[in-house]
Amino acid sequence: MKIIRFWDGNKVSYGSLENDMVRSIEGDLYGDYSLSNKSLGLNEVQLLAPCEPTKVICIGLNYYDHAREMNLPIPKEPIVFLKPPSSITGPGTNIIYPHQCTRLDYEAELAIVIGSVTKNIEPEDALDSVLGYTCSNDVTARNLQPKDGQWTVAKSFDTFCPIGPCIATDISADNLNIKLIINGEIKQNSNTSQMIFSIPFLISYLSKIMTIFPGDVIITGTPSGVGPMEPGDAVTVEIENIGKLTNIVTLK
Ligand code: MG
Repeated sequence: MKIIRFWDGNKVSYGSLENDMVRSIEGDLYGDYSLSNKSLGLNEVQLLAPCEPTKVICIGLNYYDHAREMNLPIPKEPIVFLKPPSSITGPGTNIIYPHQCTRLDYEAELAIVIGSVTKNIEPEDALDSVLGYTCSNDVTARNLQPKDGQWTVAKSFDTFCPIGPCIATDISADNLNIKLIINGEIKQNSNTSQMIFSIPFLISYLSKIMTIFPGDVIITGTPSGVGPMEPGDAVTVEIENIGKLTNIVTLK
């Protein structure tokens, strides 16, 4: 199933995307729910970020090809940081270029959406906690990162965490092509099989640090080819079997 969250002009709902039609989800997405018999056209709704996390947990330097291009050693343990929920934005929205920023970078990343309360689990059980996967862009004010020991400033501006367009369930995410495209030109082109730390390992590792709640998001690092975005750019993260997440860079 491809789960979306949308505004129909009256209210916000979750729904199932079937081709270009949307059936709303009635009940609790993370518990018992059913699909409405009524459907809307995709062009009749506004897509929103597909979940509402209490936190976005981020992994730094998790692709072999990215570590090679940066000439950095392979980390022995995951590099972990957080983005605040206020940085989240949905498909089709603007990424705002902050006035403090002189270099704004894209980072295409696979996002894991957690489906149940997850604490102290082992890797072999970790995929039971996954609702599905979506696309994300770990937008970074690169010039602010070196003086920012914990990366919080560089990673946390409003609109610095686009996610969407849908949560793809029932897919395996360990061998998916991942691309970043600016104005039609491919800038990143890799595969999730390049990850240093696997999805089950990351969920287990993080679950032994903090409780991860339904709807929480783990973004899993970016492959090689990181680079800058400029105002006016249309920036797309495309992941096989999930879809395309496009946002426009603007000055405000
Ligand atoms: Mg990143």
